Amino acid sequence: MRILKLLCLSIAFISFNAMAQEQEPQKSGHTNQNKFKQLYDEFATPNMYRTGSGAPGPAYYQQQADYKMDLEINDETAVLSGYETITYTNNSPDELTYLWVQLDQNVRAKDSPSKDINSSTVRPAQSASRFTSSYMSESFDGGFNIESVTSTDGKTLAHTINQTMMRVELPKAMKTGDQFSFNIKWWYQINNHVTDGGRSGYELFPDGNRNYVIAQFYPRMAVYNDVEGWQNSQFWGRDEFALPFGNFEVNITVPADHLLDGTGVLMNRKDVFSKEMMKRYEKAKKSFKEPIVISTQAEAEARETGRSKKKKTWKLYAENVRDFGFATSRKYIWDMMAVKLGDRDVMAVSLYSKEGNPLWEQWSTKAVASTLKSYSRMTFDYPYHKAISVHARRQGMEYPMICWNYGRPDENGNYDDRTKYGMMSVIIHEVGHNFFPMIVNSDERQWTWMDEGLNTFMQYVAEQDFGEWYPGALSKGDATYPSRRGPAKNITRYMGGNQDRIAPIMTKGLNTYQFGNNAYGKPATALNILRETVMGRELFDYAFKEYTHRWMFKHPTPEDFFRTMEDASAFDLDWYWRGWFYTTDWVDIGLKDVKKYYVSSEPNQYAKNYAASNNRNVEDLNWVYLVEEGSDEFDEKLRQGTSADNSPTLKEYMMDNFSAEERKTIKQPKYFYDITFEKPGGLVMPIIVEFTYADGTTKTETYPAQIWRYNDNEVSKAIASVKEIVSIKVDPNLETADIDTTNNSWPREVKESDFDKFKNKVKG
Ligand SMILES: [Zn+2]
Repeated sequence: MRILKLLCLSIAFISFNAMAQEQEPQKSGHTNQNKFKQLYDEFATPNMYRTGSGAPGPAYYQQQADYKMDLEINDETAVLSGYETITYTNNSPDELTYLWVQLDQNVRAKDSPSKDINSSTVRPAQSASRFTSSYMSESFDGGFNIESVTSTDGKTLAHTINQTMMRVELPKAMKTGDQFSFNIKWWYQINNHVTDGGRSGYELFPDGNRNYVIAQFYPRMAVYNDVEGWQNSQFWGRDEFALPFGNFEVNITVPADHLLDGTGVLMNRKDVFSKEMMKRYEKAKKSFKEPIVISTQAEAEARETGRSKKKKTWKLYAENVRDFGFATSRKYIWDMMAVKLGDRDVMAVSLYSKEGNPLWEQWSTKAVASTLKSYSRMTFDYPYHKAISVHARRQGMEYPMICWNYGRPDENGNYDDRTKYGMMSVIIHEVGHNFFPMIVNSDERQWTWMDEGLNTFMQYVAEQDFGEWYPGALSKGDATYPSRRGPAKNITRYMGGNQDRIAPIMTKGLNTYQFGNNAYGKPATALNILRETVMGRELFDYAFKEYTHRWMFKHPTPEDFFRTMEDASAFDLDWYWRGWFYTTDWVDIGLKDVKKYYVSSEPNQYAKNYAASNNRNVEDLNWVYLVEEGSDEFDEKLRQGTSADNSPTLKEYMMDNFSAEERKTIKQPKYFYDITFEKPGGLVMPIIVEFTYADGTTKTETYPAQIWRYNDNEVSKAIASVKEIVSIKVDPNLETADIDTTNNSWPREVKESDFDKFKNKVKG
């Protein structure tokens, strides 16, 4: 208990600092601009649908949209046609008089205004292909042709198309619990995604073969919920999708020599697989280490020389998915392996044409398997029965159970590290999207970061796992997987960049600048820093997992995420969300000044001033005095002896209050430092400081971010040390995304100037 009394000494010292720090009084009133102000003004008020804890509330509801579809691809004309029946269930408490259906393909309609929302200028020089596509060729017409919208009794339903949204009038208003079924007959011209762009379409090969990757291809129900009402914000091409969950029964007719896979369980495998494929498939279900090839490259090469006139129908059934996608070609090689997740076996699957080899046969399916394991550990066991990675040139796009990925060797099968890691990373990323947003079903149209940011954060975790679990995947010289996004130091250039070209993360996807950094890189890094530096893995991982469990197969909002992370961890993170997600502020924390003090027996100027202004005799104060090294009051002798040796007052106090035994063990600091930290950056962050002592040892201290709550520009810390400190470094491991590290060291690290470099070079 008595040890506490020693604290009085340091309190006197700290108040001395506080006085020095006092600022000019403000001359006008102000509103609360404190960086730790709670987010009540920014957040939606909790209610019965969404609670203050960030969980779904007792009145939470979501709509359901079930689909039955018959589809056919005409491989000669590249036309996709479909007849679908949508059964919509109104689980909301609201009465609905119309439904909104998304017609995403209309973004490629001839008269779509999507091309005109970006400003353009004449390029003084450009390639001939760019010139012709910009100024000479007719734009491709890939919009929907809606042939009919009918009720189940065949009557036409009134409908209005506004760009990519179609309003269907209900014959009778839908009340809570009502179901309504209707049919849409449609077709569209499939785009060449390599030349015309887009997230789906076909790649055309010189021999006329096409690899089709088909998605957002059918009229899809829009989301109706407590947050947006109808989410019928137009699709302009970049911002992705918002979709309700439902069950899909889909029959897809393609040429008989095609292979096909897509969202859902293949219901007629025996009809569409050869006997040999069935045998291999049974083997694959028991292969947990290596993929088993279901259809070989030699078989694919034999198929692609023919053009079957016959047709085959593949039947897929999917439960509780928010979307449906499929891939088909006669060129596909097909392999798969099993992954154990909890007590279930899930199939990791790849489809690729020979152009992807040898890279794809080596790494695609293993990357899928590894991703499922990593994500399942951090969230929930992957609930679907398979995850497919399809090779598609220049694509990186996700759908439930299936995704398209780039990464292609040259014609001779050679590839560099960039291609290899790029391919592995995109597979990890797109397979990861099964979790965000396919299952944790956030609104991509509104908040790109909620799926891309969370997913890119998880991609980083999964990439590191992949490098560890499959060391053979790493290139020579790489001890760990070289992740592009996630590490703090990789985001500093963006965050410290031109403010005119940056938007806060909390910006609608369509309106962000630097899409990749805004919606992927920065939120992923923010979460990584939150996990590694602010909260620690244990508390972060628990809260992150809680969020995924609360919102799996539901529709979360940003607040649901922010609130859950606090609710499950007892970390007040409003300051973190405010700074990282609602502003474009950056991190820059540095050392402004370091002063060193020793204990002295002589009353110093501070004590003399105090005595004079309080009408007291300075000799009567009997304080412990500290004098700054190098000041007029400093005496070289003070470097000798202990603090008690230099202060009779302290010595006497110790004699009176501590036993001989205690005096032997008590720490007697000899060196005192007054450290002033500055914060030119707007973000408040913990201050991580590494002290290096004269004996070569180091110690790291972390001061919580809350240290900035009274002064956003500079704060000080008094350090009492037994050992002499020879250098101090802020953020020594570059974990806070500090954009300017030139002010992070004491003594200042003198950077070799260009002139010195030149001089040394000449000398050397
Ligand atoms: Zn993504």
